[in-house]
Amino acid sequence: MAKLAPPVKKNQTIELHFEDITHEGDGVGKINGYPLFVPYGLPGETAEVKVIKVKKNFGFGRLVNVTSESEDRVDPPCNVYYKCGGCQLQHMSYQMQLDMKRKQVESALRKIGHIEGIPIHDTVGMEDPWRYRNKVQIPVGTNNGELITGFYRKRSHDIIDDMDRCIITDEVNDRMVEAVRSIADRLGIPAYDEEKNRGVLRHIMVRSGQETEQTMVVLVTRTEKVMGLDTLIDELTKNYPHIKSIIQNINPDRTNVILGKKTKVLWGEEYIYDEIGDIRFAISAKSFYQVNPTQTKKLYDKTLEYADLKGHEIVIDAYCGIGTISLFLAKQAKKVYGVEVVSEAISDAKDNAKLNHIDNAEFFVGQAEKVMPWWQAQGLKPDVIVVDPPRKGCDQALLEAMLAMKPKRIVYVSCNPSTLARDLRVLEDGGYETKEVQPVDMFPQTTHVESVAQIDLKVSN
Ligand code: SAH
Repeated sequence: MAKLAPPVKKNQTIELHFEDITHEGDGVGKINGYPLFVPYGLPGETAEVKVIKVKKNFGFGRLVNVTSESEDRVDPPCNVYYKCGGCQLQHMSYQMQLDMKRKQVESALRKIGHIEGIPIHDTVGMEDPWRYRNKVQIPVGTNNGELITGFYRKRSHDIIDDMDRCIITDEVNDRMVEAVRSIADRLGIPAYDEEKNRGVLRHIMVRSGQETEQTMVVLVTRTEKVMGLDTLIDELTKNYPHIKSIIQNINPDRTNVILGKKTKVLWGEEYIYDEIGDIRFAISAKSFYQVNPTQTKKLYDKTLEYADLKGHEIVIDAYCGIGTISLFLAKQAKKVYGVEVVSEAISDAKDNAKLNHIDNAEFFVGQAEKVMPWWQAQGLKPDVIVVDPPRKGCDQALLEAMLAMKPKRIVYVSCNPSTLARDLRVLEDGGYETKEVQPVDMFPQTTHVESVAQIDLKVSN
């Protein structure tokens, strides 16, 4: 059969009807079966689209004018939304965002995992899906001799110069970024120049405990010595009593990585604290901590509900990070074993267990896919296994170790529906059955999809 040429040409303006949306939030419309991907197009809409890239089997377009608008199109409340790379879904009603995330999970499970006909619940959203992030790290630059702070423009390293706030970030953090920026500007502390690898102030990072209202300010600088630093600290601590910790992180390298190796306490404590449910966490400048604790609580509650512990169980928490899930599990189980590859995270996990007087959780550094088979060889027999892997999902060796250990239940927390679906297929083929899946919106206004699945060992006749 002769191959058909694409039905559109570059730079042509066409009328396009959007039928679908990709997991990156782009509208998808077809011309004679040929799909075009268009940022900001919404399903149900018709629009004038300029074709900007034509490939053999698909193309890309730019939205010129929406001629028939979806009821779910909303005005993005952020004034730099179309420039910034941070959010992707502000032009979409929140209900549509939640529906889209649920559909993505459903479609991945069906297409990749061949799993159908099980309950995939409505996405658990936020009552107020704004100002949820407890951490911001923002680049510092210069514009007309003045210090500016702002995220990078999409696909670039140019700072958005008219950005004065980020409305998915805790308001306190916004205010602290502005306070540091204006004081540093007045004191003449120079911004870092990425191209020349010169200058001083690279990033301002702020973390706040939403329950405890404690704030940590981290100044990421190229040099250790910074003229005016004492005055900056004085002004911040006098004016903002919720600041409990000011940290300097020194990053002398020409790199995209934000934090350098060396960290110094400039003022106050090395840690701030926050709480999720009744568990308290100590958070240092470098430790991982969930950015949306409100939704994290809902995700972990679901994880616990799915684990359905009675108090006598042995539980493994694989990919445990700083032990957040492990500590919740430990309150309801006999014993929890956590495993995680980053040693600093395990040291935080141990500290957090002590801080909460939890003595039935033990933590190990290592690759979960190596430690689990070893545990299995040692005869460890978990009743329940919880996994919370990174985007690439579980390693095959880990899936095999789980199948060999035969826990009666597996609870899978996933930040990527595609790898969740792939791994569920392996578990199903190995004698397990996916019972239900609950998507939870951890990152409103963005395309990230988090979900938790309950998987049971099939009872053989
Ligand atoms: N459950 C934790 C963190 C989950 S994020 C929480 O809710 O806070 C995924 C974690 O997997 C990260 O901490 C990452 O460092 C860890 N990780 C990545 N690859 C790993 C591997 N091969 N073995 C063990 N842990 C790994």
